[in-house]
Amino acid sequence: MDKYLDYKLKIDAKPSLFHGSTVRKAVGQSLWYRIRDYILKKEVPVCCICGFSPQQDEMRNLHLHEIDHYDFENIVVKLLGLNLICANCHAFHHFGFTQLYSSKEKMERLIEHFVKVNECEINDFKEYRRSLLFRRQPDSEIKKTKSNLSFQDIKVGNYTVRYAILGDIPFKDEVIEKLNKKGLYYQYK
Ligand SMILES: [Zn+2]
Ligand SMILES: [Zn+2]
Repeated sequence: MDKYLDYKLKIDAKPSLFHGSTVRKAVGQSLWYRIRDYILKKEVPVCCICGFSPQQDEMRNLHLHEIDHYDFENIVVKLLGLNLICANCHAFHHFGFTQLYSSKEKMERLIEHFVKVNECEINDFKEYRRSLLFRRQPDSEIKKTKSNLSFQDIKVGNYTVRYAILGDIPFKDEVIEKLNKKGLYYQYK
């Protein structure tokens, strides 16, 4: 695994338990876009991984990625911060989703991006991807929770993911208030 440590662009995937659970979805589009606009005005609009800087009319290709840690025991997404990241790099941070929903052509373009950013070969990418497949273990995730979830519960989403906002993000109070109202906020003592 060590040879991949130097990669600027890494492959990452959300644990099964937290699939589709994002602060973005929980707080809704309008607040989320205010946060994004605020960050885009304050920071230089470049991808923090590959350095891509979009033209003014292509800003939609610059995403706000949520840097999360996961508390399996209490089923909580802990938001540590937000990164500006281009759509291509972002695809590798949610690789489970990307593999499911990308066409063959799109996948090829993404792999090209990966190879360029990491200055590696396609075979390195394939080997790296293979090395990560062993990590997907929903059963072991369930065991870490305090509730008696079954695999079926996870499949149909029969449980509630809550959110803690640990990092300093714009409009943090509003985000917490919104989550609180929906009963989705988790406060660490
Ligand atoms: Zn990028
Ligand atoms: Zn993301």
